[in-house]
Amino acid sequence: MEFTFSEEQEMFRAMFRDFSEKELAPKAEDLDHEERPPMEALRKAAQQGFLGATLPEEYFGAELDYVSYALLIETLAQDCMSTAVTLATHVSLVAMSILEHGSDAQKEEFLPLLAAGEMLGAFALTEPEAGSDAQAVQTRVTADGEDVLLNGVKTWVANGEIAGLYLVFARGEAGLEAYLVPRDAPGLTVGHREPTLGLRSVTFNTLYLEDCRVPQANRLGGDGWAMAAAAQDRMAVALAAAGLGVSERSIAEAARYATERIQFRVPIARKQAIQSYIADVTAQVEALRYLVYHAAWLVDQAQLRPFDASVVKAFGARVARHVTNKMLQVFGGYGFMEDYPMARKYRDARALGLIGGPTELHDYRIARRVFADLDFEIRP
Ligand SMILES: Cc1cc2nc3c(=O)[nH]c(=O)nc-3n(C[C@H](O)[C@H](O)[C@H](O)COP(=O)(O)OP(=O)(O)OC[C@H]3O[C@@H](n4cnc5c(N)ncnc54)[C@H](O)[C@@H]3O)c2cc1C
Repeated sequence: MEFTFSEEQEMFRAMFRDFSEKELAPKAEDLDHEERPPMEALRKAAQQGFLGATLPEEYFGAELDYVSYALLIETLAQDCMSTAVTLATHVSLVAMSILEHGSDAQKEEFLPLLAAGEMLGAFALTEPEAGSDAQAVQTRVTADGEDVLLNGVKTWVANGEIAGLYLVFARGEAGLEAYLVPRDAPGLTVGHREPTLGLRSVTFNTLYLEDCRVPQANRLGGDGWAMAAAAQDRMAVALAAAGLGVSERSIAEAARYATERIQFRVPIARKQAIQSYIADVTAQVEALRYLVYHAAWLVDQAQLRPFDASVVKAFGARVARHVTNKMLQVFGGYGFMEDYPMARKYRDARALGLIGGPTELHDYRIARRVFADLDFEIRP
């Protein structure tokens, strides 16, 4: 058992920090207030190889292991959780699905474009009537000669407006099937953008598929349910890493503020209530850190089970919500003001209880494993 990063991982981490400090820290607040996606930062991230972070070199990827990639997401989320989520959607949900399930032709066609940032990826599973219950997907796929036609509506598609490639799940004869749908596919309309409480630099859009035509060759091989589940389990680790990053930075900023803010003639850091807040959230973040790195390591070993993914995701969402809430309290009224960055962190962290599946659904998957040990079956 080892608890240290390799020299290479430490070097990557320093590189991620350098990038985030230069490209995200100075702009994140404005991007959030203007609800603008971080296009300039994504272009530079592509130059650094981050958009193909975990892809092999043959597809122009950076060939990072998942632990290093989790460090990337954690680091970006310290400055801008929106950018971390945009990048994780692109890498964990889309690029890695193609890498794992795509044909050689699909990998050669799409992965270099995704790695170069010439195309961003988006993942379209959720529908108006199919939220937690993904089995209720109604989008249909029918064969039409060499092509297929997709018909349905997809909601809350992260990167919806900026993507060039959509991984769309639809019900076909063989159950759930997945298709690679380019932005210019006939019959695809990227609908309006949903205004959101947090993650305001991520574009969430509705997709309309009306006889949307793509070649049969764009079907991503294998069982759609298994593919969607594997992608979401990988994404769960990345989202927990984002929760770790936003929590770490919240503590650092609140602790500094506590040493500077004078009330009753002393810095509030001298008050036991504040010390207790800081101690409580720090212990939680320490626990989350090891859970995230371990889960990322399990991805590298191809041993991540749905149970592990749900544990790290549910815990990460709870910790990020608790930490940002408490640290906002340390800032007092300033924490509530949009001119100070704590408000953004609090709003962004709140998303983690929903995006990537609501916490209640992850709790169900955790409990299912526990009860299964007693030969007792539970259902969602
Ligand atoms: C900001 C954001 C970004 C997203 N990005 C994407 C994306 O890029 N691609 C994509 O496909 N999807 C995306 N989603 C969808 C997301 O992954 C969730 O799966 C979806 O939000 C859950 O469905 P719902 O919101 O309709 O909630 P519902 O399923 O309607 O649930 C409502 C409430 O009931 C609870 N509930 C439901 N069923 C049960 C149960 N069996 N037991 C206990 N409690 C239950 C839920 O936990 C929740 O609290 C996104 C969602 C959000 C909010």
